Amino acid sequence: MSLLEPSRVAIALVEDLAGRTQRWPRVVAPLLVALVALFVDAPAHAARALVYPVNPVRTPAVELKSLAIAPTGASLESPLLRVRSCADRGRTTLVPTVSPTPIRACTLEAAARPNDDGDYDAPPRSVPDARGEPDAFAEASAYHHVTRTLTFFEGLLGESLAGRPPLDVVVSGRLSDAFFGGDDRLAPRAGALYLPARDGAGAPFRAYLGTERDLIWVGATPSVDFAYDADVVVHETAHAVLDRGSRIHGYRRTIDGLSADPEALSEALADYFAAVVTGDPVIGEYALDGVAPASARDLEATPPELARLTGDPHRAGVVFAGALWSARRALSAADASRFDAAIAELARRPDTPSTVKMDELGALLVEELQASAVDTSSLEEALRERRILPTPRAIVDVRPDGALLSPAGAFLAPGTLAASAPSTRSALAPGLFQVRVAIPSGVKVLRGSARIFASRAGVWGAPPGTPMSLVALVAWDAPLDWDSAEPQGVRAPLDGEVFEVAIPDGAREAFVQLANAGEESGSYDALSLTFLDAMPSPASAVIEDSGGCALARRAPASSLHELAWLLGAVGVALVRRRRARAHERA
Ligand SMILES: [Zn+2]
Repeated sequence: MSLLEPSRVAIALVEDLAGRTQRWPRVVAPLLVALVALFVDAPAHAARALVYPVNPVRTPAVELKSLAIAPTGASLESPLLRVRSCADRGRTTLVPTVSPTPIRACTLEAAARPNDDGDYDAPPRSVPDARGEPDAFAEASAYHHVTRTLTFFEGLLGESLAGRPPLDVVVSGRLSDAFFGGDDRLAPRAGALYLPARDGAGAPFRAYLGTERDLIWVGATPSVDFAYDADVVVHETAHAVLDRGSRIHGYRRTIDGLSADPEALSEALADYFAAVVTGDPVIGEYALDGVAPASARDLEATPPELARLTGDPHRAGVVFAGALWSARRALSAADASRFDAAIAELARRPDTPSTVKMDELGALLVEELQASAVDTSSLEEALRERRILPTPRAIVDVRPDGALLSPAGAFLAPGTLAASAPSTRSALAPGLFQVRVAIPSGVKVLRGSARIFASRAGVWGAPPGTPMSLVALVAWDAPLDWDSAEPQGVRAPLDGEVFEVAIPDGAREAFVQLANAGEESGSYDALSLTFLDAMPSPASAVIEDSGGCALARRAPASSLHELAWLLGAVGVALVRRRRARAHERA
């Protein structure tokens, strides 16, 4: 302890009292400071931090807010968490999957210090520092929003989170450009993630950062610091709190193929609680819109029709999060709180299936709320309106010659490694939906095409699998049925980006799904079906339309492309790991 500390504690104590009694006369304060410094052995004070209450777009004026959990020392650290910046100090570390020699990594440093009043009052920067100097405002912002979220959940769940593993919170996150095929220099990276320490698959990323704890990593771009946005910080903290019990994640086999609902639900719940804690249903109007215009997630907007079938967990998650938000708005304050508690408890319960679907979680929630006498009519209506209940089929009607476009820029094609546990792994991972098209009379051939995007390689140490390899499954006059071990139907591997199938006499409807025979996940877009009067020569069809090196094409830059990269590289590995472990337990 330095000699200065007792008086700073005393000043803060006075300031705290002053705050509560509406401004003590300034002349009196110094006298009290002296007295308190002499006689009081003060505990940790209730410090405040200068923050954006929500984010620089929604609430452009910074405010001094009391910290929900007092730091135990000068830097922003307490038993539950420690906040540090990613500083560029020339450190290097070995990441064998990226380079045979060590690459640049940041040094974790805490820059935030309290002023003489005990407050963390560093002003925000207009843009993140180009040289990677730590940002005390970003640290204080992250500390404030993480601790207010932890405290919110403690109140909601009626239990202390003190026993949970301590969090490392890294702000102003930077990664070497070598990860992206560029020079080995540290550059800010958009995105944020929660990585539990008990997931061994995340170990390479933690080793790169130099931390072993449960991790909340918050990135930046040259113009936007994600830690300034409560939406981002609360979302990740909600993941950390809800990551208990059976841990909702992964995919679920259904009659129509593979449902990506569990992954989407994990994001939906994090977005929902971000909206509840901040009181603002728009998620990321500063951070996400700052990376790609109009990419914030508005829980009050009507989601695009195919959102739930894209496999983009954030976009699909809005379908469910929006239903919860809409239902909550109709409730009294007391019921809203019980509603929130029921959601958080369901998510954390060991008997909630880890691969629960939206309709199932919705029905469970209705049941829970009815048991605690909360009116469920608004929730039931919201679930109906968003076509979550009754359980819909994942069948999309298309017209011949039209291209089915994903509102997320691409449809995910999960690979066999992600689609199922090792014990039940089959050679083919189902697609997320099937399309139905009417067959005109007199045609002989169904010809399909899609734009194919490369699968993402895992760079954090997960062994790469075989690349995505799309196979068209085609059934006539009845949908493909994945309730049977392997659905009936014709299999047509895509040649380049095209497949062709002869149509049996009398068939009136075709059901088509793109399944993945590769181990790695990938994606595709613009699925299009046309009909031909006669089978063309295979060679000409393929050369014309495959566009050459189809797999080398990169997925379009979507709003969450960078986030997806990080979560893809780290998260997909985690999904695999979790599935593997679930299998071991079973
Ligand atoms: Zn998330």
